[in-house]
Amino acid sequence: MSNLPKFRFSCIRCGSCCTDKNTFVNVTHTDIFRLSKGLKLTLDELLEVISFYIFENKITESDISKMVITPIMTERGLSFPGLKKNPEGICYFYNTNESKCRIYKIRPNFCRTFPFTFEYVDDNQKRVKINITIKGNEYCQGLDQKYPYIDIEKWIHLGKSVLENLVENEKFVQSWSQKLKKTKTKPKAKGYLKEILNL
Ligand code: SF4
Ligand code: SF4
Repeated sequence: MSNLPKFRFSCIRCGSCCTDKNTFVNVTHTDIFRLSKGLKLTLDELLEVISFYIFENKITESDISKMVITPIMTERGLSFPGLKKNPEGICYFYNTNESKCRIYKIRPNFCRTFPFTFEYVDDNQKRVKINITIKGNEYCQGLDQKYPYIDIEKWIHLGKSVLENLVENEKFVQSWSQKLKKTKTKPKAKGYLKEILNL
């Protein structure tokens, strides 16, 4: 374990990750499911808090293979699902007056792992590497030499479960797409969310 990297970090709840207008919180099918159950949201209410962010540029298969989260086809084009932002670019669930997350216990994996990101380092997907995200380096005030070293094993454990969830999410999206093809149904954001509510 001595070869594992050491990172000093403590989330000081500065809110930078929740309020940065260029940070988009992607969500997997299970993130959405947890949110819908935790807040008891109907399909229409879910549509109010989940956005389908359309890619501005043309996306190639190679681009898709490098994406953290599997994109979803919607009536407006290829997109990735994420938490909605308010007009100022702040996460919809951030309580600005109290500087805290309104859904902390059921927040998406993206928020649980920030400012870190994980990747498999071997083909049989056993070993996981931890890195700091670009955004984390850019503005996370909790990454500082004055804070203690993180419990690396705990974070790697979390990273593994998040990577597994991303694989499950990919399977879910593929199965939904195949179902649409079979039934000759046009892909719609609402239909995708409905499929999740039926889980
Ligand atoms: S869900 Fe909570 S932790 Fe995640 S960005 Fe929004 S306010 Fe921040
Ligand atoms: S930017 Fe870093 S320290 Fe600030 S709330 Fe996010 S994770 Fe915590």
